Amino acid sequence: MKAILDHMPIHIYNTLTGEKEEFKPLKEGKVGMYNCGPTVYDYAHVGNLRAYVLADIIRRVFEYNDYNVTQIINITDVGHLVSDGDDGEDKMTKALKRENKPLTLEAMDEVSSFYTEKFINDLKQLNIEMPSAFPKASRHIAEDIEIIQKLEENGYAYATSDGVYFDTKKYKAYGKLGHISLDDSKNESRIVINPEKRNLTDFTLWKLDKNLGWESPWGKGFPGWHIECSAMSRKYLGQPFDIHTGGVDHIPVHHNNEIAQSEAAYGEELAHYWIHGAMMNINDGKKMSKSSGGFLKLANLEEAGISPIAFRYWLLTSHYRTQVNFTVEAVKAAQNAFIRLVETFIRLGEVQNEHVHAVAEPKDYAKEFEEKITNDFDTAGAVALMWDLIKDHSVVAKEKIELLLSFDEVFGLGLHVVKDMKDEMNEAIPAEITALAEAREIARAAKEFDKADALRKEIASRGYEVKDNPEGYILRVVK
Ligand code: AMP
Ligand code: ZN
Repeated sequence: MKAILDHMPIHIYNTLTGEKEEFKPLKEGKVGMYNCGPTVYDYAHVGNLRAYVLADIIRRVFEYNDYNVTQIINITDVGHLVSDGDDGEDKMTKALKRENKPLTLEAMDEVSSFYTEKFINDLKQLNIEMPSAFPKASRHIAEDIEIIQKLEENGYAYATSDGVYFDTKKYKAYGKLGHISLDDSKNESRIVINPEKRNLTDFTLWKLDKNLGWESPWGKGFPGWHIECSAMSRKYLGQPFDIHTGGVDHIPVHHNNEIAQSEAAYGEELAHYWIHGAMMNINDGKKMSKSSGGFLKLANLEEAGISPIAFRYWLLTSHYRTQVNFTVEAVKAAQNAFIRLVETFIRLGEVQNEHVHAVAEPKDYAKEFEEKITNDFDTAGAVALMWDLIKDHSVVAKEKIELLLSFDEVFGLGLHVVKDMKDEMNEAIPAEITALAEAREIARAAKEFDKADALRKEIASRGYEVKDNPEGYILRVVK
């Protein structure tokens, strides 16, 4: 394995500075990354899943470059208020009512565990590597209370009749992420539900709730959504840590609030690099969201004949900072390309008597691949390069396979599984079947097509399939 020094520097577009910067880790050879996790009051939609494929790609690019990655995806199982402006009811409370469950912590745990399991299952189906931990917000109440008390001590928190709020006017750098305007009158997403709030941008640190929650110095209730991420990221990664990710929809409120409270409490930066994925829209360009009806789960894709890995492949063909428009047609076209890729990959393993066209200056695919992925995770460019490689007649099949397997450490399309399956299948094909296939080749070459056809049928009757392709034939076990 190469040392980190042999690799190219990784450049990241940092929302905090608005620039592409060279990544410098806090600790040599290590990366701490926090990915804002889902609010588990419902299934994840495929737009949400784009955020976790991005997190997985980031992790894989660092691992490809020999970094040791500590990755945290939290589970928001309480505290996410329904309005984007951080007001209204808690989403978990809403889910309990929807599912006719009592308003108890036990019932909340039951509902959130159900959707957490579905979420993790979605990640696995998408070949997303499991993070170091999936901490649950409901298990970190003491850590939330500690930060809120610190904020009180530092003069940033104030109590009202419905909870404790953060005073955004007191924190001078409020809104620095993405340069969010503090001009309240322009901030239409913020609705005043509590007239005791000092500023429209002030947000809940602790929400009082007589029915559901935990005891606290301020009364029974539950933590705000933002404080949970501040507490869990600090606990598992320290403060500051290297990378924080989420969708662009989190820039204006959630992430600015996380930054404000963590930095106001501890006087330290929260994270050095902030990476935000663009949104996925659906059909006519509407943002996919859990509330707007344009809601597609991974299971719905499978019903439409799209495999999770083909969906992953489709995501890789766009840069993460480009908005994508989900249509079944577009993803099915990508699925066809993905199938071609797998077929080509299988065929490469079977090529015999290869004709290679040597060129004076062969392309350095490994280097070009690294250039793409270290350039702000340019998977679209890397996928295009992979197709260039496939079509390149100057590269021998064995080398192509090695390169494709190495690219797939980042793409995560599971080509090594295809290879293992293929190897197993080859082992499983008995010699007499191979002999029948060879006899068929000879008959075909002699233009004895009836005989060739009869042999094909004989092979099929024994549970195998023979397929012709430009390089020769392929023999497979029929499932
Ligand atoms: P949530 O469960 O709402 O906190 O969202 C989980 C993740 O999905 C966050 O990183 C969001 O930014 C992201 N997200 C939400 N909607 C979309 C969308 N339509 N396209 C891409 N990412 C999204
Ligand atoms: Zn978060």
